[in-house]
Amino acid sequence: MYDLLICDGKIVDGSGQPAFVGNIAVLDGRIVAVGDVQGEARKVIDARGLVVAPGWVDTHSHMDGQATWDPYCSPASNHGITTLVMGNCGVGFAPCKPDDAERQRMIEVMEDVEDIPGAALAEGITWEWETFPEYLDALDRMPRAIDIGAQVPHCAVRTYVMGERGVRNEPATADDVARMASIVREGLAAGAVGFTTSRTQLHTTRNGEVMPGTYADADELLGIGRVIGETGQGIYGLVSDFSNWEEEMAWMKRLSIENDCQVNFVLFYRSEADWPRVQQQLQYVKDARAEGARLIPHVGARPVNILMGWEGTVNPFMFHQNYAPLAGLAPEERLARLRDPAVRRAIVDETPPHMGHDIMDKIVDGFDNIYVLAENPDYEPAGEDSIQHLAERAGVTPAEYAYDALLENDGKRMLYCPLFGYDLRSLDRQLEMLADESSVISLADTGAHCGVLSDASIPTWLLSYLVRDRQRGARFSLEQAVRMHTLETARCMGLTDRGTLEAGMKADINIIDLDQLAIASPQVIYDLPAGGRRVYQGATGYRYTLVSGEVIMQDGAPTGALPGRLVRACKQGDSHLPNTPQPHSKEEAA
Ligand SMILES: [Zn+2]
Repeated sequence: MYDLLICDGKIVDGSGQPAFVGNIAVLDGRIVAVGDVQGEARKVIDARGLVVAPGWVDTHSHMDGQATWDPYCSPASNHGITTLVMGNCGVGFAPCKPDDAERQRMIEVMEDVEDIPGAALAEGITWEWETFPEYLDALDRMPRAIDIGAQVPHCAVRTYVMGERGVRNEPATADDVARMASIVREGLAAGAVGFTTSRTQLHTTRNGEVMPGTYADADELLGIGRVIGETGQGIYGLVSDFSNWEEEMAWMKRLSIENDCQVNFVLFYRSEADWPRVQQQLQYVKDARAEGARLIPHVGARPVNILMGWEGTVNPFMFHQNYAPLAGLAPEERLARLRDPAVRRAIVDETPPHMGHDIMDKIVDGFDNIYVLAENPDYEPAGEDSIQHLAERAGVTPAEYAYDALLENDGKRMLYCPLFGYDLRSLDRQLEMLADESSVISLADTGAHCGVLSDASIPTWLLSYLVRDRQRGARFSLEQAVRMHTLETARCMGLTDRGTLEAGMKADINIIDLDQLAIASPQVIYDLPAGGRRVYQGATGYRYTLVSGEVIMQDGAPTGALPGRLVRACKQGDSHLPNTPQPHSKEEAA
């Protein structure tokens, strides 16, 4: 007697092999048979006409706080994500001294760098830990719908060990490095998936300082990395500006070879002028592999982008003098004022305040590369779809057009601004990076950048747009795309017990009506603790999402089942993570 039989679905098993129609049998949270399988089951799901795929594995989230209070890690579970990995970009909440000022400092870093409302973090996080293993235990105690894995964040470790010296980015002494390494060793031994660090000047705190660890020298980076070699466990992850990419790649290669460890690194490109560098880095990865290095480029499916709205963190008028009095108002009050023709006139007639800062100038006056995200949001708009072009056709100024667009949908409409990598006004470069044999789809930043981003929807959009709807160039096959977000993402985080639909694998499964699969128009909602704000983008088309054989979401609604677990990494070479038994189903089976 099986616990569950999924019948007659179109099985896209994550391996990349051609889809086939068949059944899947589940027992005790695991897949036990796939294909022409018959037999009795306590529950049967008729999947005729539906795609049956593994649950999505999201490698790049910032749920470190939210995972301590939200069992669904929304919006991950709304988009079929059944495993997410956090502790990316070197930021997280452990270790942290049991001291209000230290805790506040960690919250401010997360608020400043990842745009997660500080009040929500302060109210939501219960701080039942000091050390990283204690943090894992706290995560482990909490019932949850989906699986999560955590990485040890450099920023927290450096601050914990070095205090103010660490925050001021002073060089670490040999003793500091030894103490940091021992904390990372302790974290890995407790089941951390890896260690991450940030080397980008884009990540700055409210005081304009880069994050602790950004300028860490080779002794510190390699000294911590050596722990992975010694323990034979864990992955090293980083984000870097790669302003000196050959030097950066050289120490990463050395780190990987000397410690036999995998290095995950964020690879994005900013402009066409930057494209040759990206290609050279991809080639470097292949050459390094021949020398025994495992370097995995993590690439986004969308360009680095921000969404703008009246209720978001940014809008094109945010630096206008005439907008300033409205900025701090409650949303409804602000909307009423924005609808006042005199207020509108004053704001749209103001000369855009250029600041000589590339990103800020793109926000206030980059209307040739800002687009309206309406219903059926288009993340690959053509140049003619820009607000500048639409305004010309409508006989108004771009500022007027943007202003009025933002007022649509009760002032909830958002604009899409690809900050980097959209010079060609197409996603061809993104697809080329994704299609590279060494890269892994990543960078959704799930749970972060709450006031400007909703890229947690990437897996839904991958299937609905890059597989099904794209007309402007090549598309991925369904089998390729599923593999990209399951087998490849799971393996690149060292997870070997999930990512495909095969006997023995965890029964993390999405059952999808591909014709209906769609992302909603993003909008700001206020459902974080303390009424915290976030940009939320819903999905339709997921009929069932299962974790360990239990349906956690059905037709977009949570079922209440909480079979998710903290994933504790295992030694490299073990083929499977420890089984998580499902006591009740075993009893029923007996
Ligand atoms: Zn990140």
